[in-house]
Amino acid sequence: MPRPILATVHSAALRHNLQRQRQAAPDAKVWAVVKANAYGHGIERVFESLRGCDGFALLDLAEAERVRALGWRGPILLLEGVFEPRDLEYCSRLDLWHTVHCDEQIDMLAAHKTNQGHRVFLKMNSGMNRLGFTPERYRSAWARLNALHQVDEISLMTHFSDADGGCGIAQQMARFTEATQDLPGERSLCNSAATLRHPQAVAVSDWIRPGISLYGSAPDYPLHHDLDWDLQPSLTLASKIIATQALPAGASIGYGSAFVADQPMRIGVVACGYADGYPRVCPTGTPVLVQGERTRLLGRVSMDMLAVDLTALTHAGMGSEVTLWGRASNGALLGIDEIAHAAGTLAYELMCALSARVAIQVD
Ligand SMILES: *Cc1c(COP(=O)(O)O)cnc(C)c1O
Repeated sequence: MPRPILATVHSAALRHNLQRQRQAAPDAKVWAVVKANAYGHGIERVFESLRGCDGFALLDLAEAERVRALGWRGPILLLEGVFEPRDLEYCSRLDLWHTVHCDEQIDMLAAHKTNQGHRVFLKMNSGMNRLGFTPERYRSAWARLNALHQVDEISLMTHFSDADGGCGIAQQMARFTEATQDLPGERSLCNSAATLRHPQAVAVSDWIRPGISLYGSAPDYPLHHDLDWDLQPSLTLASKIIATQALPAGASIGYGSAFVADQPMRIGVVACGYADGYPRVCPTGTPVLVQGERTRLLGRVSMDMLAVDLTALTHAGMGSEVTLWGRASNGALLGIDEIAHAAGTLAYELMCALSARVAIQVD
C-alpha cells in the first residue's frame, strides 16, 4: 500500500472560482494564470475545469507547449515575455502572445524573421519596480513596437504591488491612466486581489489576470477569508493517522521536545511532514481536521510525520482521515490560507511547495 498521503484537485471548485472572476468582471476577458504548473496543481489537472477562460497566462515555453498539446487553440500569454531571441520562434510557431517589458525584448523582435504578426502586451512599471517601462518611457516603447512589421497588435498592461491592501492601487492607477490616455489597444491591469477588491481597475480592464483566487485562496487574507469572497478550495491535502500514543502529564512530543503535555493526552501521528510540502515552521496550535473535526498540531513537524491532539476526539484513531488543508470527506473545510498564515507565508507558497512524492488525484 502506498503511504496514505494524497492531494486532490477539485474540478468543481475550479469551475466555481472561475465563474466568480466572471461575476466580478462581467465585461472583461479572463486570463487564467497557470504559471508554476498551475500553482502546483498540475496544468493537465486543471485544464478541463479552466478551459472556460479566454486565455491561459504563464511563464515557461514548456508550459505553453503543454497547454497547446492539450488541444487549446485560444490565446496563451507569456507573462515575462521572451528570454532570448530563439524564444520568438516558439512564439511564432505556437502562436503565443508575449509581454514586452524592456528594450532588449524590442531589439529581439526587431531582429526576428517572421511573417506572422505578434500580439504583444507592453508592460508599464507603474510602481511595482519589477518589470516594465516607466510611465515616462512607455510611449516611446509603444511607438518603437508600433513601427515594427513583426508586431500585429499592442495591448497595455501593468501590475499592482498593493492590490491586497497596504498602499492600495490609486497611485499606480493614476500613472497608468495618464501615460496611456490616448493609446489604442486593450488593457490588462488586475490580478486576483484587484479583480475582487478594486472595481475601478476592473472597469478599465479588457483582460483580468486572476491566479490565486482561481485556486480558492483569498488574495487578501486575513482581511477577508475564502468564504467572504465565495471561493472554494481547489486543493486538498489529506492523510491518515498511522499511530497513536497515550501521554502522561509531563511527556513531550517529537524533536526538541517542543511540546510538553500538561495533562494526560492522546495523540495521533499523521503520515505527513515537511518532505511532503507541509511547512515545518507551523507551530503547536495550527489547525488540522481529523475525521472532519477541528483539532491542533502538536510539537515540531518532522520530515515524514506530524502529531495531532486526539484527546477530545474519542472516535478517532488508527486510520482516521486527516485533512491538512482543503475539504474533508464530511464536507468540513480548512482553508489553506489558515495554514499559510500559521507558517508566516501565503497560500501561493504552500500550493507550489507540494512535493513530488505526494500523489495527486482529480475529482
Ligand atoms: C502571477 C501573476 C498574476 C496572478 O496573480 P494572483 O495574485 O495569483 O492573482 C497576474 N499578473 C501577473 C503579471 C502575474 O505575474
